[in-house]
Amino acid sequence: MFDIIVIGGGPAGMTAAIYARRAAKTVLVLEAVACGGQIINTPDIENYPVEAHISGFDFASRVQEQAKGLGAEFVFEKAVEIREENGIKTVVTARNAYSAKAVILATGSENRKLGLEDEDRLTGRGISYCATCDGNFYRGKTVAVVGGGNTALEDALYLADIAAKVYLIHRRDSFRGEEASAARLKQRENVEIIYNANVTKLISEKRLKAIEVTDKLDGSVRTIELNGLFIAVGRVPENRNFASLVELDEAGYVIAGEDCRTSAEGIFVAGDNRTKALRQLVTATADGAMAATEAVRYVNGG
Ligand code: NAP
Repeated sequence: MFDIIVIGGGPAGMTAAIYARRAAKTVLVLEAVACGGQIINTPDIENYPVEAHISGFDFASRVQEQAKGLGAEFVFEKAVEIREENGIKTVVTARNAYSAKAVILATGSENRKLGLEDEDRLTGRGISYCATCDGNFYRGKTVAVVGGGNTALEDALYLADIAAKVYLIHRRDSFRGEEASAARLKQRENVEIIYNANVTKLISEKRLKAIEVTDKLDGSVRTIELNGLFIAVGRVPENRNFASLVELDEAGYVIAGEDCRTSAEGIFVAGDNRTKALRQLVTATADGAMAATEAVRYVNGG
């Protein structure tokens, strides 16, 4: 029996664990894969106060060390359900069940897919959702990035240093991501930006070998031969397993304000999986602090 179970070991969840431990509560962090969440895919964080440059992996490792040093327990199992009886929450995983007085949902988000035929089969066979993880396999080769947000722009910049040629395919004529990254990208000689276009077909044998790109304005179709396709079209919140317990908005985010309280007593939310205006590392860690503070208040009977 723990005071607080944090589901998700990203920056929000691990910060929640730090705050809860500093309030002398027993804390279990349940993480499905590896601590750090999506930030571990970021090669260089430049917008988090104190460190001018730090890799996402180093950032996550240091926060985990800090939480562990304060006495937070970590278990690597995926939470599939929360059951509630007499105010006690039991978080069920494939192998075990853990109980607590309060739960913080810090499950973050997962990659959005394009929804094309064969997309799943070709993942790992030419399709990737993580340029920093898989970029090196495409050294000297031809790749394309789909998307127009910060992830797509940063992925394209990263890949421009590795691949011989990078196409960036975006469905509109202006980027959602930061202008500074877009400006840097436009200066790269091996980058070709294709605006107002969608990837409409994946052409493959065992691996992906080409894509069809359809121009949204005139309907023309272009076939691009390539070795890798990096899909960076945003993320979707990972709240499916808790949808029956807490209120979600139409996009699947847990509805909560700055106090990180959900519609369910004793269940709090922190990070990218809640409704919020700005999803950044700094707002995720801020959520962790707030959710833990509210959870501690709840556990103390406040
Ligand atoms: P995002 O900001 O939601 O951008 C997703 C992009 O994919 C948009 O340009 C969108 O087009 C496009 N898109 C969505 N669905 C599509 C589809 N089915 N087909 C084609 N294109 C599609 O996602 P993100 O880039 O992953 O970023 C997520 C959050 O993390 C953002 O808040 C971002 O600022 C933040 N982030 C920050 C940093 C940083 O600060 N260094 C780095 C990475 C990410 P439209 O623009 O037309 O909607």
